[in-house]
Amino acid sequence: MKKISALFALLLLLISCGEKNKITVMAWTSGPGEATDKEIVEKFKDFKNKGIDGLMYNGGHNPKTYERIGQLAKDAGLEFHTWIPTMIQQPNPKLKPEWYVVNRLGESAFDKPVYVEHYKILCPSREEVYEFLSELYTNVANVPQVDGIHLDYIRFPDVILAPGLWEKYGLTMDKEYPKYDYCYCDICTENFKEKTGIDIKEVENPSQVQEWKQYRYDLITRMVNRLAEDVHKTGKKISSAVFPGPAIAKKLVRQEWNKWDLDAIYPMNYNDFYLENAKWVGKMVAEEVTAVNNNKPIYSGLFITPYPGEKANRPDPEDHGS
Ligand SMILES: [Zn+2]
Repeated sequence: MKKISALFALLLLLISCGEKNKITVMAWTSGPGEATDKEIVEKFKDFKNKGIDGLMYNGGHNPKTYERIGQLAKDAGLEFHTWIPTMIQQPNPKLKPEWYVVNRLGESAFDKPVYVEHYKILCPSREEVYEFLSELYTNVANVPQVDGIHLDYIRFPDVILAPGLWEKYGLTMDKEYPKYDYCYCDICTENFKEKTGIDIKEVENPSQVQEWKQYRYDLITRMVNRLAEDVHKTGKKISSAVFPGPAIAKKLVRQEWNKWDLDAIYPMNYNDFYLENAKWVGKMVAEEVTAVNNNKPIYSGLFITPYPGEKANRPDPEDHGS
């Protein structure tokens, strides 16, 4: 559920396109907390010395934070992208409770989230949600020190959880269950009915309705492409972390990311989450490069343990990484 537990965590390899002989390595990190400029720049220089070329940095929503941290990253010789989660948003005076997704039982992710308390995910059909996100990313992209915007959690809640997490959450997710299946809010269901003539609330098994799946893939795709247009207007790059595939991404979280107008894609090829060995990463990358017709960079996300000596004693994939 967490993207990274203890920070440090994912490193990426540039697999396709462009600089074929140069392997670009990015790292995800967050802060700054109470750290001083000196402490931060020392940490960034350490990253650089260890072969990291750039950061995906999560520092909240305030552009001023990115101005400060971005400059320190530049001083350390690092590329600087902001990593600000997209559809997952904690309560905020700018966001109304009715803008959050609703499951097939009629429960809102705002006050009854699934899996974990922070799984409060916005509905992509709401124009106000797009406006909120557009303003957020545009303001950050306008910071001179920012090279690009990196989206994350740009998706529905997991209708099916990666098999490596079933035991942790005490679930067997062999099919789409109503509690985890979103978005059945009035706007989504009414717009779908208008478009297709299907009243999805009256359908006995909505998971069998291909149009309903496609409709929700398209809602996310439209949101991404509108945000991409906004960020590109500032002259900056935009990329996203996504689930693998996109076959797995479509099935689990409704991301049809091969249709997204981004500058780069970062699939989270976390083999342990799928009970697979390291060879699976190569198989996924081949699928992913093919999915975008090899016309944009695919960076394979690896989940690296912050506790390399303890991996065998940590059964939770969200804790140990690969
Ligand atoms: Zn909705």
